[in-house]
Amino acid sequence: MAVIVQKFGGTSVADTDKIRAAAKRAMDAQAQGNQVVMVVSAMGKSTDHLVDLAGELTETPPARDMDMLLSTGEQVSVALMSMAIHEMGGKAVSMTGSQLGIATDGNHTKAKILSISTERIREKLDAGNIVVACGFQGVNSAGEITTLGRGGSDTSAVALAAALRPSQCIIHTDVDGVYTTDPRLEKRASKFSEVSFEEMLELAGMGAGVMHSRSIEIGKRFGIPIYVRSSFDEKPGSWIYTDEQTPRRAVAGAALLRNECRVTVSKVPDRPGAARTIFSKIARKNVAVDMIVQNVADDGTTDISFTVQKGDFPDTIAAAKVASNEIGAGGVDFENDVAKISIVGLGMVDTPGVAAKMFATLADAGINILMITTSEIKTSVLVSQEDANKALSVVHTAFGLHELNDDGAEERLARFATGVDASNEPMTQLDMATASDDGRHLEQVTMESISVHSGQSLIKIGAVPDEPGFAANVFGKIGEASINVDMIVQDAGTNGKTNIGFTVEREDFDRCVALLEEIAQDSGIGPVSSLRDIAKISVAGVGLRSHTDIADRLFNSLADANVNVALINTSEVRINVIVRLAEAQTARKALEQEFDDVLVGGDE
Ligand code: ASP
Ligand code: MG
Repeated sequence: MAVIVQKFGGTSVADTDKIRAAAKRAMDAQAQGNQVVMVVSAMGKSTDHLVDLAGELTETPPARDMDMLLSTGEQVSVALMSMAIHEMGGKAVSMTGSQLGIATDGNHTKAKILSISTERIREKLDAGNIVVACGFQGVNSAGEITTLGRGGSDTSAVALAAALRPSQCIIHTDVDGVYTTDPRLEKRASKFSEVSFEEMLELAGMGAGVMHSRSIEIGKRFGIPIYVRSSFDEKPGSWIYTDEQTPRRAVAGAALLRNECRVTVSKVPDRPGAARTIFSKIARKNVAVDMIVQNVADDGTTDISFTVQKGDFPDTIAAAKVASNEIGAGGVDFENDVAKISIVGLGMVDTPGVAAKMFATLADAGINILMITTSEIKTSVLVSQEDANKALSVVHTAFGLHELNDDGAEERLARFATGVDASNEPMTQLDMATASDDGRHLEQVTMESISVHSGQSLIKIGAVPDEPGFAANVFGKIGEASINVDMIVQDAGTNGKTNIGFTVEREDFDRCVALLEEIAQDSGIGPVSSLRDIAKISVAGVGLRSHTDIADRLFNSLADANVNVALINTSEVRINVIVRLAEAQTARKALEQEFDDVLVGGDE
């Protein structure tokens, strides 16, 4: 029988009336012929209260005790929920993480789920019970209680759905779905009726915040359809499901990530291993690096810029300074108070001119772009904090996101309406409801492909004034010449001048260089430099950024293979590296070897 996992967040179980209402939703779903697992969070703000209590006693609570404490919140909720169901004439069993068989690693307060053994849950479901599961918690191999990190109940819910396939997962929350951008920042945001896992991951990774990112990663890995809806009304919500089945919009959503800090290591010697030194030192401080931009080298050196969250700033600067000395770079610069604006869409890669339109929109609004990266489904720019809200708003409007096109959604979504779509059998190569023999585990990073695109060339224009409109001008002219641009990178630059690097198809190379020379001359910028024979290596997967060691391993393996990286960019689901064509196969082999343990797909 099909399983529906219904998750209720803290606000959805904040008092006993709400608990009763949630119980009724679960009983209704069961009455329609489904087996039902509820995943419940701690009531209201009770986890926050527990955190505060600990804080009154100590600034450094032992992590094991923290988990012992925080896990009690969910235990209260499941017990009350089960009582409510019994009182309403239903059958229910409340279960803790350990009773559920949710095995995690031993990382207290931020544990990852390894496996879920489903026998006990199945037995209770088959006996006609609603299983009421504690979200957010699990148990490690030593029998200790662990928690998954704040907001982790979403992850519990989708993981349970993955273990109990065929299934779907319904997230009941205090908002009525997923929006094209945060509606608190942009009133004209529209609600998706459907959005793909990849888009959702890129948006959630920006703190678009409806769901715990790890839960979407699990959904993508196992093909679990997720429905986000309000627990307080009957309005239709948003479906999140497989990338292949959702519409390929050029731009589906936009997001703003505030409180970023831009760090630049200048004059990094252009040789294999330099990036490794910088990023491994930072990774050792457990800092997640966001936008990484490295431009093509002139005069044997290049600048590497990246962003981190403001809280990680002191650690990052310290680590970067040590690295800079070690590799003989020019030093470390930084700019605080910047914000990242991203647009995301599965169809971006097939739609020329999306990035150019974003730059033009920002230029028209007088907003200066501090840094750019683009990948197949995302274009991100860094702007100053004070421009951030306006930037989000003009971009959202420019791409028509306030009037999102929903054509055909109703038909596509009909298959979910009757409960569970039977086709939601495993859709990915990984099949591991329980710990599988090959040692993979449920939240493990997954690499779907490492592919080489060898038909590209790289062009860079230097000394571009750091003022509004230059990127828009350059890419506007390239667009008018019908030249398709793939990856774009604008670095932080020095003395008010930045560099813009980008890749084009090799057949457009000569034409594009000529055009750039012309632009450079007309506007007194440049020089233009180029590499005709390059290849783009794309690593695609799930969890590439939430597993902070991946970027580190990538740089390490390339450096060990003596491959020099000419341009890099990263996103949640993809890392792109540009290397010289002659080194492409070496680079690919090095990566395949390095990631043998997590690579599930073949190459493309
Ligand atoms: N109660 C936990 C928290 O507040 C888990 C959750 O709500 O998802 O973070
Ligand atoms: Mg929550």
